Amino acid sequence: MLKYISTRDKSTNPERVSFKETIFRGLAPDGGLYYPHEQPDLTEIFKSFNPTTSYKEVVLGLCHTLFSGELSEESVRRIVENAYSFEPRLKSLGDGLHLLELFHGPSCAFKDFGAFFLAAAMDEFLKGCRRKALVLVATSGDTGSAVARAFLGCSNVEVVILYPYGRVSPLQEKQLTTLGGNITALEVKCSFDDCQSLVKKAFMNRELQERLNLTSANSINLGRLIPQSFYYFYALSRFENSQTGEYWFSVPSGNFGNLTAGVYAQQWGLPVRGFIAATNINDVVPQYLESGIYKPHPSFHTLSNAMDVGNPSNFERLMTLFKHDLRSMRRILRGEKITDAETLKAMKDVLRDYGFLIDPHTAVGWLAARRLQRQKLNRGAEIIVLCTAHAGKFPETVREATGMEPELPEALKKVLDLPKQAVQLGNTQHEFFDFLLKQFG
Ligand SMILES: *Cc1c(COP(=O)(O)O)cnc(C)c1O
Repeated sequence: MLKYISTRDKSTNPERVSFKETIFRGLAPDGGLYYPHEQPDLTEIFKSFNPTTSYKEVVLGLCHTLFSGELSEESVRRIVENAYSFEPRLKSLGDGLHLLELFHGPSCAFKDFGAFFLAAAMDEFLKGCRRKALVLVATSGDTGSAVARAFLGCSNVEVVILYPYGRVSPLQEKQLTTLGGNITALEVKCSFDDCQSLVKKAFMNRELQERLNLTSANSINLGRLIPQSFYYFYALSRFENSQTGEYWFSVPSGNFGNLTAGVYAQQWGLPVRGFIAATNINDVVPQYLESGIYKPHPSFHTLSNAMDVGNPSNFERLMTLFKHDLRSMRRILRGEKITDAETLKAMKDVLRDYGFLIDPHTAVGWLAARRLQRQKLNRGAEIIVLCTAHAGKFPETVREATGMEPELPEALKKVLDLPKQAVQLGNTQHEFFDFLLKQFG
């Protein structure tokens, strides 16, 4: 059975934990991130897929191998069945460029793929337990709504989501506060950083942690990362010549979870040549690839704001993966930085050349792919651009770039008509703990 260890455990006999332990712990006790101790071999199972294999079948095949020994076939089937009511779509643009649309889930962004799997897996592991788990999340908007939506209806989990009063967009607020059921939204009179610090204080309080069975679902959780590798397998399985062609993925990156998941897929047997680390001006990783110097900085605000990260949390996983060897990292990764002005121009060019709208994050990935294809890659190389969000989520930027009004996706239109349900709280630890104990203790 596959075991996981912490990036910071340097002992000769590191603590090896199960998938279940990693997902309920989130972060390792030493502050490191969990990663697979051995490399599972998914080569044969990948070869058994063909362009008509459905997404669920691909995921089932991969999961049976990845989690064998820890989860029964029925458990795996239930998790996959409960997690995925949506799937990626591959769109070919010609000239060796392809788009993998990852925004057809409920929150219209790729984080649905990780969040829904994690929720279904936690729910499955908690079956038959006497106690429910309580997931705490602080959000500045998007991530929290994907996570909350993913846990909606999981009978073994309660979710409490904290968001800063007056600091999230009206659409985001609707997404957070209209779910009901096992999802409780707390509107706190404070900044996002204060929300995050309240959550941290709850986790540091032993008594509270144990009484409420607290757990987190943030983006460093391996239960969100591993399922993000599945759509890389799916994308290549759409091509008849996946074993002989030269395939690259262009990944719009912030915390580098998405890209790390792709590198895992490659290590586990996916025949992909490499990855483009496409960033906005928060380009510490492209800079590292060029100079060998890693220089984190406070983040700059850009139009592709889900990628405004000055010190990507998954860099630690990447370094461990490549054994801190810059040369082996360079063999597989290419960095490319895209400015806001270039992002706007890319959105306009895509509309002109193909007749549809893309969001600013996808635009970064698309332009990076175009540049590398023309300047640095072999002729005949095919590039698959990951489309991380629906254009309708960024109407201001789409308008600025193209003068067009994007259609809001149906899934999001619906929430606009639902009533807001949120509990208002002041920014004190006392009020917060008191609420948790009264409600869930
Ligand atoms: C989170 C996010 C990204 C960045 O993904 P990472 O895994 O953090 O690199 C890119 N685009 C969108 C729309 C996102 O929400």
